[in-house]
Amino acid sequence: MDHQLIQRAARDILHSKKTIAFTGAGISVESGIPDFRSAGGLWEKFDPEEYAHIYAFQSNPEKVWLMLKEMFSLIIEAKPNPAHLGLAELERMGLLSSIITQNVDGLHQAAGNRHVIEFHGTHRTLSCLKCSMTIDGTTLKIEDLPARCSRCSSLLKPDVVFFGEPIPWEAQVSSLKESKSCSVVLVIGTSAVVYPAASIPVTAKERGATVIEINRESTPLTNAISDYLIIGPAGEIVPAIVEEVKKIR
Ligand code: NAD
Ligand code: ZN
Repeated sequence: MDHQLIQRAARDILHSKKTIAFTGAGISVESGIPDFRSAGGLWEKFDPEEYAHIYAFQSNPEKVWLMLKEMFSLIIEAKPNPAHLGLAELERMGLLSSIITQNVDGLHQAAGNRHVIEFHGTHRTLSCLKCSMTIDGTTLKIEDLPARCSRCSSLLKPDVVFFGEPIPWEAQVSSLKESKSCSVVLVIGTSAVVYPAASIPVTAKERGATVIEINRESTPLTNAISDYLIIGPAGEIVPAIVEEVKKIR
């Protein structure tokens, strides 16, 4: 871990008028939920392009539910890791305004963050594509899956954004507002290739924000949009930054 960069991030956060975080699947890998790139993970078995596309759900929901059921069982078991908890601590200290997340696992809220914008929706509710009925999914047990609509008995779809579906309007508006008004953005555990989400740090940068990347490897943002990249696991880097903030503030 590069201690100088940890100190630099802590200073940037302390001097910032408004800091936000933009997170991706990588922040939840240490909670046991594989990202799209992890070897041996869920996504080696289920190609996201094939299973996470809205056409796949429309044409063969039974097949897509094979993948959804495994994703649900991982999410039900998962607990926030030190990276999620570190961001919650920053919010409590008044140093983090909001989190824009591409994740659908609810772990930022479980860690205690109150200002979370879910850019790609959530697993907590499920809806019927036929009759628009929505149910609370938080009490569902794995044996209840795949869940069916009680009104028309179609298979329900979790309210996550599949490829080919629009981003929820409110999330678009609020994340644009946050990215235009922040002075620091912490970009954590995202490959920054899924659009329009990946335009968030670009928008922030255009408005003069400092872009701090935390990732195990470089991404298309590195050396282009990011001011600097702190390489390593988010579960170690984020708490180290929080400790440094506490030391120098
Ligand atoms: P991605 O899988 O494309 O990229 C993950 C990134 O995280 C990579 O750059 C990787 O190097 C990095 N990474 C992995 N482990 C890390 C760690 N411990 N610390 C720091 N960085 C780490 O993920 P994405 O950019 O979020 O895009 C994938 C899409 O898939 C998103 O839309 C997301 O909604 C969805 N998805 C969500 C979940 C979830 O909710 N947890 C899981 C898988 C996929
Ligand atoms: Zn229905």
